[in-house]
Amino acid sequence: MPNAEAQLAMRDADARHHLHPFTDTQALNSKGVRTISHAQGIYVWDSEGNQLIDGMAGLWCVNLGYGRKELIDAAHQQMQVLPYYNTFFQSTHAPVTALAQAIAEITPGDLNRVFFANSGSEAIDTVIRMVRHYWTLKGKPYRKLLIARENAYHGSTLAGASLGGMAHMQSQCGPLLPGIHHIRQPYWYGDPNGISEDEFGLQRARELEEKILEVGPDNVAAFIGEPIQGAGGVIVPPRTYWPEIQRICRKYDVLLMADEVICGFGRTGQWFGSQTYGFQPDIMSMAKGLSSGYLPISAVAVGDRIADTLIAAGGEFTHGFTYSGHPVAAAVALENIRILRDERIIDAVAKDIGPYFQNRLREVLGEHPLCGHIEGIGLIAGLALVKDRQSRIFFDKDIGTLCRDECTASGLVARACGNRIVLSPPLVISRAEVDELVNRLREALDRTYARVA
Ligand code: PLP
Repeated sequence: MPNAEAQLAMRDADARHHLHPFTDTQALNSKGVRTISHAQGIYVWDSEGNQLIDGMAGLWCVNLGYGRKELIDAAHQQMQVLPYYNTFFQSTHAPVTALAQAIAEITPGDLNRVFFANSGSEAIDTVIRMVRHYWTLKGKPYRKLLIARENAYHGSTLAGASLGGMAHMQSQCGPLLPGIHHIRQPYWYGDPNGISEDEFGLQRARELEEKILEVGPDNVAAFIGEPIQGAGGVIVPPRTYWPEIQRICRKYDVLLMADEVICGFGRTGQWFGSQTYGFQPDIMSMAKGLSSGYLPISAVAVGDRIADTLIAAGGEFTHGFTYSGHPVAAAVALENIRILRDERIIDAVAKDIGPYFQNRLREVLGEHPLCGHIEGIGLIAGLALVKDRQSRIFFDKDIGTLCRDECTASGLVARACGNRIVLSPPLVISRAEVDELVNRLREALDRTYARVA
């Protein structure tokens, strides 16, 4: 552990030189930044020696937990053999080819080809460029519009922020990318209107049809959505929602795009969230759990319909990144997929640890006076914090941040999304660790309640 003087010097240097993402730097600098020093399994430690359960798996990404030697060794070995080479100009290398094949095998349907990038945001930009190019090649260059949802998160590049539906992100970077429309999110609990969850799911899905008809079916390129909205607060759609979305997309020949950056690689108990919710995307973005966050890598899995058109047209798709398919990141991702598969970790999320996690949350916290509703599946969950459980009245103060800070004080990394607390622990969490996580969360809820009651 660094001594107190070294810690202070580091804090000071961070305040003077480091601009943090999604951070109020003024507030951070007055409070002082927390340094995470090391991690193992589901735990992280800060430089003051505090141990925290990482209930967020980093940023929804460390699916295999920290300290997996196989991933470290895969990186080390690949570094020695070929630390870098690009995949432009008629070149490839073994890890990236093997990874493309592995992704084609685990993705559903005919998502047989893979384009690599480095982040979820880059994958989203890739998707936008690819589907627009596709429609031009099909002789329909007017099909350029994209439809997404309010409160969706698709990254923080200009295209990602434009496609996402978060007003606070969009207000800082305009003018936004044109040609993007939003429909409402399928948040049944947050929008009570007396109808059943199933009926609500159908109604919200049918807003897609209304939007398509409003802007003209022949102008729409694609609909994009996260199977479960993650950063929006873990908004779990009613079961009826995605099949209806798929029906509408097929009816109007609108491409269906799944943003699997959070749901992918086992979080919902299947390889991909689209499998859990019963729809087949034409194109899919993935990142985070692809390498368990050990190195940055993302990918777009492309269905035959789009890929065959791109290939048959000949000529270049003028898009790519210096680090598309980086060999070291690809080697780690490949090993990550092997471990998920060989250790049957996703099966356990579906049948054992996922249901256990969901049950414990409900058993221990379901009746807590602050907890209005718990939703989730597998190892992802969101808790709505309410002032009044009966009438679903929300607080007008930032209860999420208050509770998030109490979680930290209780030794749990959780995330606040407005009035919701969200969780997505590593998939390798044990039952005993789930119990510990839930106890720490209960302690944080009790303390938050004591402050606001
Ligand atoms: N799409 C979704 C659904 C995400 O949750 C995120 C990040 O959280 C992104 C895209 C952007 O990924 P990145 O931060 O790697 O650019």
